[in-house]
Amino acid sequence: MRSLQTRADPLAQRRCPKCGSALVLRTVKKGSKTGDRFWGCSTYPQCRVMQPLG
Ligand SMILES: [Zn+2]
Repeated sequence: MRSLQTRADPLAQRRCPKCGSALVLRTVKKGSKTGDRFWGCSTYPQCRVMQPLG
């Protein structure tokens, strides 16, 4: 049986594909997705790149 864990850790540190800065794990603070987590560029609001977890 093969492990499904061979892909990159979704919580591993990432870099912004647009500006190269670190992405930081953020939590949605309001709206219908409150509590959801996503990766946001550490230079926000200068760079507004967002990526879903995983
Ligand atoms: Zn960025």
